[in-house]
Amino acid sequence: MSKKKRKTLIIPKKMVTADEKNSILTNKAVEIIDGKISSFLPIDVIEKQNYDEVFEAKNLTLIPGFIQTHVHLSQTLFRGLAEDLSLLDWLRFKIFPFENAHNKDSLRVTAQLSINELLLGGTTTLLDMGTLRYGEVVLSEMINSGIRGFSGKCLIDKNDLYPDFKSSTKDEIKDILKLAQNFHNTAEGRVGYSFSPRFVLSCSEKLLKETKEIMKDFPGSIYHTHSSESLKEIDEVRKRFHKENIEYFNSIGVLDDHTVLAHCVHSSSNERKMLKERDTRIAHCPSANLKLGSGIAPIPQYLKEGISVTLGSDGAACNNNLSIFSEMRFASLIQKPVHGTDVMDAKTIFRMATIEGAKALHLQNEVGSIEVGKKADLVLIDLDSYSNSYSDSDESVYSDLVFSSTTENVRSVMVDGRWIIKERDSLVYDQGEIISKGKVELKNLLKRL
Ligand SMILES: [Zn+2]
Repeated sequence: MSKKKRKTLIIPKKMVTADEKNSILTNKAVEIIDGKISSFLPIDVIEKQNYDEVFEAKNLTLIPGFIQTHVHLSQTLFRGLAEDLSLLDWLRFKIFPFENAHNKDSLRVTAQLSINELLLGGTTTLLDMGTLRYGEVVLSEMINSGIRGFSGKCLIDKNDLYPDFKSSTKDEIKDILKLAQNFHNTAEGRVGYSFSPRFVLSCSEKLLKETKEIMKDFPGSIYHTHSSESLKEIDEVRKRFHKENIEYFNSIGVLDDHTVLAHCVHSSSNERKMLKERDTRIAHCPSANLKLGSGIAPIPQYLKEGISVTLGSDGAACNNNLSIFSEMRFASLIQKPVHGTDVMDAKTIFRMATIEGAKALHLQNEVGSIEVGKKADLVLIDLDSYSNSYSDSDESVYSDLVFSSTTENVRSVMVDGRWIIKERDSLVYDQGEIISKGKVELKNLLKRL
């Protein structure tokens, strides 16, 4: 028996496709059949009666859903509670104790609040770092919410900063095997597993290496860790291993094209050579790097050397928001005083937040641009607001997206052809309800400290 295919038509003012040619289309509608982009139609030939839904958005611009390659869904509940600290103290005194106090209920609601915030801001794909316990809660919430991406339990089998917050190597390995078996490549491929050693200082060499081995049984999964974020952290790595952070990772064989390293604020030329040779990907989180006083990552240098760089907002406890628009803006502005005004132009930044993010996660055949055959992960954005450019030319569209828009400009968001945000309303979460639930769970969590 053949099932009738669902057909949707979106008629925007303009489409910024992020395809190879950076095509910008006007007077075209996009046809979506069963969650995939099937064609672009000139608006004067469309037959509206052929569609289950015709979404007229003649004042809005259609863009690919944004992709964030480093977030912490578990930390959104801690926003505003870990201020004015540098990385290691921030972990020792605040974040590790907070994460250690999570139970399933608090973790569920922080995941809901995070996903809601990310979707409202136009992010449709994420790579999450997870937390030590209850990895299944975050993964199942990702499945329920309709968002795309990867998560996995955060691996910690050593912890000098906060010894209560760790597990044994044996249990860590047992847990990730079970979680990856249950969650990798679920929700029709929308949700994948990411193996997430927290950082060098919280993992034994055995755990780092065995995790990489296990990963080979789960094709398409990601190895996601932090690296070279702050100078104190790197000093500690040097003391323990007599190597730089990335050199150490390279020496134990965990760098390859399925490894994403968050930050890489500090690196030597030798380390950059290793990143390039191994085709390892960097997740750049400029707001978090500024707020924790970690430094400014040499992104123009990475790009010049052909190293993959994408964007993430990191966690709400060190940002303090999850807006890709803030990250895009900072990613550009912080480099210009150092490297000159012509670096990190708006088009480059927009691609880092879309198609380059997809490539970093090996999802470039599915998402990251608006092209026939790809999945319909799409965002309708209002670029005609009071704070945007008054020019309708294609020239201003990238600077409008990167420099003068915020999450407030996002109107509607679709993943896999299914609307999740429509006219700024979530079709998945009752926002008032999750905010009040969040407040209750945070209060309970703080009592468990
Ligand atoms: Zn992080």
